[in-house]
Amino acid sequence: MDLAKLIRTIPDFPKPGIQFKDIESITENPEAFSFVINEFSKAMESLLVDKILVLDARGFLFGAALGLQCELPIVMARKTGKLGGECVTESYSLEYGEAEIQLQKTAVTPGDKVMIVDDLLATGGTAKAAAELVSQVGGHVSLIAFVIELEGLGGREKLHDHSIFSLVQF
Ligand code: AMP
Repeated sequence: MDLAKLIRTIPDFPKPGIQFKDIESITENPEAFSFVINEFSKAMESLLVDKILVLDARGFLFGAALGLQCELPIVMARKTGKLGGECVTESYSLEYGEAEIQLQKTAVTPGDKVMIVDDLLATGGTAKAAAELVSQVGGHVSLIAFVIELEGLGGREKLHDHSIFSLVQF
């Protein structure tokens, strides 16, 4: 399936100069959505994975579908203030300013092998922060999987300590 052709690009959103990749062009198409989840399953086939960590918010869609298909537990990394209970926190840089994500301390057990799922890799700041959350609670990252990778923004380099999978590159 030619995902690159299918994925809509919205120019100058959310600000001028950004080519926004609209993943709704995948989720609204059951055949394409299924294709993505099957490709993710294949990518993790030979790896040991105990849990899927899904990233707020569009990563939830793909990670939840994958976790259910693979019969694995699904846990969430969320923007600060959205999760209850005791959490670990990581800050990361955005184009303008800083952001923070959190994980509940009990979401990952020390020694757990965790696959992280998000919709898109740009600069890698979000995924790197998520990987740090996993380390903070004693887990290991088996794979970080993205539907889309935007090349030339340094994301893959930032995540050089980890195995990365992306389905379509722009
Ligand atoms: P980054 O931390 O720079 O790798 O950014 C990744 C996050 O920002 C992902 O969770 C995406 O949802 C979002 N994002 C960044 N750039 C784009 C883009 N051009 N189109 C759609 N989403 C984007």
